[in-house]
Amino acid sequence: MDLGIAGKRALVCAASKGLGRGCALALAREGVHVTIVARGREALEATAAELEKVSPRGTAITWIAADITTPEGRAAALGACPQPDILVNNAGGPPPGDFRNWSREDWIAALDANMLTPIELIKATVDGMIARRFGRIVNITSAMVKSPRATMALSTTARTGLTAFCKAISFEAAADNVTINNLLPERIDTPRQQQMAERMMQREGIGLDEARRRIAMTIAARRMGRPEEFGDACAFLCAAQAGFISGQNLQLDGGS
Ligand code: NAP
Repeated sequence: MDLGIAGKRALVCAASKGLGRGCALALAREGVHVTIVARGREALEATAAELEKVSPRGTAITWIAADITTPEGRAAALGACPQPDILVNNAGGPPPGDFRNWSREDWIAALDANMLTPIELIKATVDGMIARRFGRIVNITSAMVKSPRATMALSTTARTGLTAFCKAISFEAAADNVTINNLLPERIDTPRQQQMAERMMQREGIGLDEARRRIAMTIAARRMGRPEEFGDACAFLCAAQAGFISGQNLQLDGGS
């Protein structure tokens, strides 16, 4: 299926690894000019080279090393991709823990990274999309939005705030072919999930294969998701054909 977005410009945040990278690869394959953002240069360069390999000739791939959760980082990202037609919002997630131990600073950091950062980027780009009568905004949130767990409450709370904001804004933007949707991952096999498996190994005194098997058994599909599956779902939500889908929360959780 041709998604009808070749030649569009995309800003994909937190995209040198994991889910953001999966989204960037799927968009680049469609001939979208993609700008990826992350903090570490080495992984950015490697991912940009991968994007160039999969994209059709003439597709512009750029990268910018920046912390997307800071005003300076967002300014740098928007400097590299000033008028995106597609915005994929993403950042690192807050750590798990016990709410009794979280300080005001912990809450502000989570809200900054996972609610206010995407809101600021939407604020900076949505009016241009409306004026051009094409826009696709996809927020990478978490299955925790619909299935909250106490240990992940920093994540759930910040992402639920973003979800409510985006639902409200989606009503205003829909008439101009600008859609805003959220992708809710659970156990997609990224470097972050690898870290979680390593934590389980230490906690339970088991090997990596056993940790990964136990994680897979928590998923209805009995396997972890693949970043490529996640990226393809993102690309479809960004497609010309997806203009009638907005304000939605799509769970990618293996049927869990
Ligand atoms: P990951 O494998 O750790 O990859 C994170 C990517 O984001 C890296 O490219 C990282 O590069 C970049 N990044 C992190 N903080 C950044 C910042 N402040 N500014 C710019 N780039 C930044 O994580 P992931 O599994 O893809 O997860 C992505 C998001 O989905 C997270 O918020 C996570 O909590 C959420 N999530 C994931 C799952 C899952 O199953 N994977 C489930 C639920 C929720 P640098 O470190 O070099 O900046």
